[in-house]
Amino acid sequence: MILRARAKNGSIQEKSATWEASKTALIICDMWDDHWCKSASRRVGELAGPLNETVKAARARGVFIIHAPSSVTSFYQDTPQRKLAQAAPFAATPVPLAAAQRWGTAWCWTDPKRETVLPIDDSDMGCSCTGAKCEIREAWTRQIATIDLSPGDALTDDGQETWNLLQARGIENVMLCGVHLNMCVLGRPFAIRQMVALGMNVALLRDLTDTMYNPERPPGVDHFTGTDLVVGHVEKYWCPSITSTVFTGQPAFRFKEDTRKP
Ligand SMILES: [Zn+2]
Repeated sequence: MILRARAKNGSIQEKSATWEASKTALIICDMWDDHWCKSASRRVGELAGPLNETVKAARARGVFIIHAPSSVTSFYQDTPQRKLAQAAPFAATPVPLAAAQRWGTAWCWTDPKRETVLPIDDSDMGCSCTGAKCEIREAWTRQIATIDLSPGDALTDDGQETWNLLQARGIENVMLCGVHLNMCVLGRPFAIRQMVALGMNVALLRDLTDTMYNPERPPGVDHFTGTDLVVGHVEKYWCPSITSTVFTGQPAFRFKEDTRKP
């Protein structure tokens, strides 16, 4: 597969790599059943089908699948996937796990030693709806049902449980997909910043993600260009990216509302 990274001046650097499936995990971040922002919820609904197809293809190749629907794992308390995560033997981490808390889990904040501020302003929480803005509320109860839980998959939103699962399987490579890239896909305790800090080889599935970005906020670009800017930030400061084509052989996913020329 081709890993896409960026130099500090923003130029794209592509490098070929082979990751052994048995040493690779795919983590699905916060693909919830509903969201307080109607636009965000609609996009997750559209993304879920292609994401599930990618997960199926990755699983068939032997990649370990971790479902990570943050703050709603209790919905799954009686499932084999949740029990698998809880049963993984404790493994010490090479560095302490993030201790800050945000939105129901531990959290890795923006790291000023490693990255600049994000290239989009999400300080209004990023409702991208036109006209009336959505009211923030606890909207989610579970992972969206479109994504299948299969035997052998795990389900957790906990950093230690994630590490235990990875160590028990000798996993060295972690791929991330799901939402939202400017928030949870970077900050959650199973997500990009934490996995990089733990020394994993990390890659973002850049077509299977989205952001919370309101185009009325700086830098004033359309929603999907805003997402691309955050992908560029990740490629520059955190980890390379790939597309779902690696697993599906199909063209990379695009949202219907993304009317830009490919
Ligand atoms: Zn909205």
